[in-house]
Amino acid sequence: MDLLVVGSGLFGLTLAERAAVSGRKVVLIDRRDHIGGNAYSSSDPETGIEIHRYGSHLFHTSNASVWDYVNKFTSFTDYEHRVFSTFRGEVFPLPINLGTINQFFRSSMGPGEARKLIASQAKEFESGTARNLEERAISLIGRPLYEAFIRDYTAKQWQTSPEELPAEIISRLPVRYNYDNRYFNDTFEGLPTDGYGAWLERMADHKNIEVRLGVDFFDEDQPLNRKAVEEALPIVYTGPLDRYFDYAEGRLSWRTLDFESEVLDVGDFQGTSVMNYADMAVPYTRIHEFRHFHPERDYQREKTFITREYSRFAEGVDEPYYPVNTAHDRERLLKYRELANSVPSVFFGGRLGTYQYLDMHMAIASALSLWTNKVSEVFA
Ligand code: FAD
Ligand code: UDP
Repeated sequence: MDLLVVGSGLFGLTLAERAAVSGRKVVLIDRRDHIGGNAYSSSDPETGIEIHRYGSHLFHTSNASVWDYVNKFTSFTDYEHRVFSTFRGEVFPLPINLGTINQFFRSSMGPGEARKLIASQAKEFESGTARNLEERAISLIGRPLYEAFIRDYTAKQWQTSPEELPAEIISRLPVRYNYDNRYFNDTFEGLPTDGYGAWLERMADHKNIEVRLGVDFFDEDQPLNRKAVEEALPIVYTGPLDRYFDYAEGRLSWRTLDFESEVLDVGDFQGTSVMNYADMAVPYTRIHEFRHFHPERDYQREKTFITREYSRFAEGVDEPYYPVNTAHDRERLLKYRELANSVPSVFFGGRLGTYQYLDMHMAIASALSLWTNKVSEVFA
């Protein structure tokens, strides 16, 4: 073995695949019983519908090299993601666009008038100097729309007041003064034609990659544990950064999700793939209905599979899904980065290993760059 990769999410898979193609023998371990990390999907035995096991995953990117890279392993459908939000018993299109604005204000404004109205409602804060999510959101869409669609949804999702969350979180959502309600602005978008599971399996299908599942890097009863291998060979580690150092600087805070799934005896439950729930009175943040991700597939029409998503702080053995990233976390992160620099044979990567929210395309781009600029140099 030339290289050990810990974690078979898209970061670990990309790194392993690049190393394997360049002739390196790679062992890829994961503590779960499947590869692919959070992007993994599998077919529900009762309905035949492909389920994204860790929440809906939509592939989108404007990075042409990432798009070329992923297309080596799968083709993509022409699916374009659209999301709706239920607020006080009424359904509105997201992200906030002219349709949302006119429906909300019971008006028929054109783009110019709408801009003027929102500007007058948004002048409490300047976008450039906004200190937190609430201020940034109000500076972009004004207080009434913020209070309807963002405030309570965000509070449910993060269980942290929007005044304590970083402004960047909301910058992920575009605001549009036309009727375009595509959720993403990227050049390339789609879902893997024969599913995420098949795509991810193909990435690991190389004679130089040996996959070992159900193997925890910190389990000293298995031979490839941290203590045994830390200085013996180069390691790419994509598990949680604080866990690597036994939480020496305290725990970094994460949000986890609880998924409550149900098969219903109707062909179509909500008419769309993702419905958000903006009201505080509804305890879940959204409902996913997976059949709508693949209208091109000939799924049966008698049953459907839905998942309600609930969000809360991660504790103990909960899966860490989203870095919360408070000021306190950012201080700890700096200390962990220093510790990471003290183990030169270990390359920390991915969402958990760098404590960063990364979309799939970002995880892939970051792994391609780590391979080219750092890990491949070890073998040069
Ligand atoms: P992960 O996929 O988390 O993989 C890390 C792997 O490391 C896991 O398999 C884990 O089991 C393994 N591991 C951890 N610790 C150990 C250990 N001690 N020993 C062995 N193995 C270990 N991105 C998009 O582009 N579009 C989306 O719509 C989207 N939706 C998302 C929805 C949710 C709910 C979440 C959580 C993420 C979403 N993402 C989405 C992000 C996407 O999942 C990530 O970009 C991608 O998973 C990053 O890959 P990764 O390899 O860094 O991490
Ligand atoms: N958001 C919101 N209302 C919505 C959808 C999103 O307030 O109906 C905010 C929320 O703070 C969320 C952020 O926008 O964390 C980013 O939304 P996105 O849908 O990208 O979140 P993800 O799908 O990653 O959970």
